[in-house]
Amino acid sequence: MTLPTMDRSRGPSGVTTAPLSIVWLCVLSVSEYAAAGKKIEVPEQACPGCGRRLGGWSGYKRPVRAGRDYRIWIRRGRCKPCNRTHALLPDFVHERRYDAVEVIGGALEMSIGGRGMKKVAEDFGVPHSTARDWRRRHRARAPSLVMHFADLTTRLGASVGEVSTESEQAALWLLKAAWRRASEILAIAALGLWRFWNAMCGGQALGTNTIPPLLATEESSSMRG
Ligand SMILES: [Zn+2]
Repeated sequence: MTLPTMDRSRGPSGVTTAPLSIVWLCVLSVSEYAAAGKKIEVPEQACPGCGRRLGGWSGYKRPVRAGRDYRIWIRRGRCKPCNRTHALLPDFVHERRYDAVEVIGGALEMSIGGRGMKKVAEDFGVPHSTARDWRRRHRARAPSLVMHFADLTTRLGASVGEVSTESEQAALWLLKAAWRRASEILAIAALGLWRFWNAMCGGQALGTNTIPPLLATEESSSMRG
């Protein structure tokens, strides 16, 4: 699986905003990942701050819910020159969220599609308050997500069609357009829509941090200047 290098070293203002976690593309299911325990192998990752290869740096246990509760081992990578460590999150893990992204995304999509939040929460077996919080965060983040995925569709050369003027609908629409295009041109067939969403947002789609810029090609890196 290869995706163009993600440039997460600079925020929209050009200020260095190296995140403390990195989302990597993982071919394993949640249960397979959990079963690997501390033996989980993470592909080589580059420091978001300086681009150098990260060295190993222990890790920590974290809960994740995907049909049932799992405790998984999250590796950390360390950049010596930057003197920082980064949590290496598999793509099904959203920063600071308990549920796997397929659950979060599936619930969001259904709710945005018009199903009542109480029903959505029941369908996905999550507390009503949790599902409501996802939706509230998504609504707040929607304008940024629209810009983020509009940028991504442009970079991928995705055909977008007519986008809704409603921002949550538009965010979802652009995400799907980017995902379809990425599936055509990149070897990421194993990556589902919501893992793609999470990876492209650096685990912060519903977070409070700036969504890291992504998919920097050589050309767009220089454009970003
Ligand atoms: Zn570094």
